[in-house]
Amino acid sequence: MQSLNYLYRIGNGPSSSHTMGPVAAAKQFLSQAPACDSYQVILYGSLAKTGKGHRTDYALRQVFQDKNCEIVFDLETPTEYHPNTLDFLAFQGGELFLRQRFYSVGGGEVLRDGEEKQEHRDVYPLHSFTEISEYCRSREIRLWQYVEECEGDGIWEYLASVWDVMQESIKRGIREQGVLHGGIGVQRKARYLFRQKHIDESEETKTNRLICAYAYAVSEENAAGSVIVTAPTCGSCGVLPAVLKYLQTKRNFTDTQILRALATASVIGNLIKTNASISGAECGCQAEIGTACAMAAAAAAELYELDLDQIEYAAEMSIEHHLGLTCDPIGGLVQIPCIERNAIAAMRALNAVNLADFLADSRMISFDMIVDTMYETGKDLKVIYRETSEGGMAKNFKE
Ligand code: SF4
Repeated sequence: MQSLNYLYRIGNGPSSSHTMGPVAAAKQFLSQAPACDSYQVILYGSLAKTGKGHRTDYALRQVFQDKNCEIVFDLETPTEYHPNTLDFLAFQGGELFLRQRFYSVGGGEVLRDGEEKQEHRDVYPLHSFTEISEYCRSREIRLWQYVEECEGDGIWEYLASVWDVMQESIKRGIREQGVLHGGIGVQRKARYLFRQKHIDESEETKTNRLICAYAYAVSEENAAGSVIVTAPTCGSCGVLPAVLKYLQTKRNFTDTQILRALATASVIGNLIKTNASISGAECGCQAEIGTACAMAAAAAAELYELDLDQIEYAAEMSIEHHLGLTCDPIGGLVQIPCIERNAIAAMRALNAVNLADFLADSRMISFDMIVDTMYETGKDLKVIYRETSEGGMAKNFKE
């Protein structure tokens, strides 16, 4: 498995696979052909179908800036290896100088055609939860200590910067008001949720209101193209910070405990990324929001110092009850259902932890098994439900 640096990426929203990935690919390509007469970028599959709403063309133009670059949305050519495929072409003196194909495989990660997934960045020798938990048990260490062993001490500094950016995005999101760009009139709601106390509000209502306010804040910032942390993707970036922020505020967990929780969550996200997918275009929203929920549940379980079985159960449940969740963003924007979905998943993550606390002894489904199931389910989903905006709510929505 790769370093958690590749899972938690700091960058601009609204989509890790549709903006961060293409930007990374464009920079790689331009470094090899920096001064050609003209360029062309051809977007296929989900990138072509939802690239306008996800602002792929805008993000690419930021990289090419004043260079002569045409961006083509190819809605016809089928994709073979991955639904997020893009070609870069550079022309010099009327001749093709360089052509390269890239795949934006989720969470901002890109692969050049022919490059093996994660071939040169593995820092974790173990690749399943079963193996990792056996190792941790034999050494009597927690998951965050396994992360530290594999990544080295320097990882805490990186995680501190991740936590800073997460908190900043919550603060900004709660401050901002107004309508998000994109033309479907989605109002920001984080500020309202944060401030609008019910008269005679119960503790439970307050908990849900605040978790939702934090999740909305980060997700609305993402939709606005601001800086967020992929956790594991842009579209699902609100779940984990919302749960951490709520628990830190409520229970006074220290920053050190929060960073350990982030490390624990990264094991869950990394396993799903390695053994299945975190890409909505590849496996639907279960791969994005389901993974985010599992990461948040594992993080919360770590904060409460639950044992390995309980952490596994909380993460497993979070995936299990998102199985089959489709990706059908209205207008190709990362707004409906994405923003609200982050809030629901954050609440679910805490529910999963509560249940795991009581029932871990009787669980029958392993985390590794549910990850395999999620991947198979995702592959079986019709393509219209995998970030194409051609099915589900995206099809039925009328302004
Ligand atoms: S529906 Fe889910 S997977 Fe699709 S763009 Fe929104 S958050 Fe991402």
